[in-house]
Amino acid sequence: MIADNIRYVTGRISKCCEGIGMPGDKVKLIAVSKEASVAHMEEAISAGVIAFGENRVQDAILKHRVIGDRAQWHLIGHLQTNKTRDAVKIFSLIHSVDSLKLVQEIDKEASRIGKRQNILVQVNASGEKSKFGISPMELMGFLKEAVLYSNINITGLMTIAPEVEDAESVRPYFNALRELLAKTKPIVEGIANGTEYSNLSMGMTNDFEVAISEGSNMVRIGRAIFSK
Ligand SMILES: *Cc1c(COP(=O)(O)O)cnc(C)c1O
Repeated sequence: MIADNIRYVTGRISKCCEGIGMPGDKVKLIAVSKEASVAHMEEAISAGVIAFGENRVQDAILKHRVIGDRAQWHLIGHLQTNKTRDAVKIFSLIHSVDSLKLVQEIDKEASRIGKRQNILVQVNASGEKSKFGISPMELMGFLKEAVLYSNINITGLMTIAPEVEDAESVRPYFNALRELLAKTKPIVEGIANGTEYSNLSMGMTNDFEVAISEGSNMVRIGRAIFSK
C-alpha cells in the first residue's frame, strides 16, 4: 500500500541522514506522481506527502484542478517554451531549466502574473547524449546570464543519474553536482541579492541513498512509492 511505501521510504531517508549526521528534515521528499492516479495521490497526501513531482505540464494541470494547493507541485520533466505559461501558474519549483530561452520565457510569464518563479538548473553531469541539461563546463557562463532575470529565483541544481544496476557507480555524478553548486554559489548569491542558492535535487528510487550521502536535499521518488 502507498502509505506503507511512504513509511518505508521516509524511514530509509531518516536512517541515511542519521548515518551522515544530518537532520532528517533537511531532505525533502518529492513524490513523483507522473504515473499515479489522482486517487493514489490523495492516499499519498493522507500519508503525509506534501510535494508531487510531475514531468508533463498538461498532466499536472489536470491533477492540480482536483488536488489544488493541498500539495506543492514540482516540475521535474523537460519544459517546452510553449508550455511555460501553464507551468508558471502551478509549479512552486521548476527543476528542469536548461536553456536561456526558457529562462527568458519563464521570467516573462512570471512577471505577467506578478510571481517570482523558483527554479533549479538541470545539469547533464554524466554527459549522456540522451539527457537534457547544461554541461558542467557551460554552467558558470549560463548562470552569469540567467541570474540577471529578476522574476526568477535560481535556488540550486538538479541532475538525473544514468540508470545502472549498481547505484554506487553514479556517486561521482552526485559528487560533481555538489562541487558545481559550491563553485557557482558566489556568482548566484553575489549577483541575485537575497537568493538562497542551496538546493541539490538528485536521487530517485534506485539511487537516493547515494545521492543523500553526497549532499542531496531533494529526492524525487516515484516507483518506490506508487508501484506495488
Ligand atoms: C520518473 C522520474 C523520477 C522518479 O523515478 P523513480 O525511479 O520512479 O523513482 C525522478 N526524476 C525524474 C526527472 C523522473 O523523470
